[in-house]
Amino acid sequence: MARYTGADCRLCRREGIKLFLKGDRCYSDKCGVERRPFPPGQAGKKRPRDSEYRVQLREKQKAKRSYGVLEKQFRTYYTIASRQQGKSGENLLRLLESRLDNVVYRLGFAASRDEARQTVRHNHIMVNDARVNIPSYRVRPGDVVSVAPKAKDLTVVKAAIISSARIEVPAWLQVDVEKLQGKVLALPTRDQIDLPVREQLIVELYSK
Ligand code: SF4
Repeated sequence: MARYTGADCRLCRREGIKLFLKGDRCYSDKCGVERRPFPPGQAGKKRPRDSEYRVQLREKQKAKRSYGVLEKQFRTYYTIASRQQGKSGENLLRLLESRLDNVVYRLGFAASRDEARQTVRHNHIMVNDARVNIPSYRVRPGDVVSVAPKAKDLTVVKAAIISSARIEVPAWLQVDVEKLQGKVLALPTRDQIDLPVREQLIVELYSK
């Protein structure tokens, strides 16, 4: 499956905010945004021209890059979101949040969404006692997400538990760290999604 293989920190520097793509490093003084707080590339320090399109585009890129989703899939999420009842922007973020790789990350079983995606792909995650290896799998309220028994001793999982202690598990999820298991209590409301994105601008961009 296609995925972005460039440097993660460049993405954060382009957006001018921390997207928390690299786990522990994001909380250290090695963070690219803190060390070089300007966009990458030769024109990085030049002030970009502000246009309505540019602002909308950047908001879309922030959301897309935070969840590690490529353009085609992101557009598909928008199409589904726009057909659902309620605000399309909120629906879009809710769809992205309910991806299995995001839930694994939010529960603290992986240090970043990228790591969570790998953990899911490698068959280390179960949903309702059945193995699921599709990172985009959409969880539902009542689902129980757990680390597979054979994966519980993996160094990467143990390290993630330690490093994610600094991240608060959102109220729409419930975690049992001892059992390495979490439950989806409900799908998140907008105020439970801590993504600094103005989703309405994404809707305006795609509505053109
Ligand atoms: Fe982004 Fe993390 Fe790199 Fe900082 S360390 S620039 S938050 S990916």
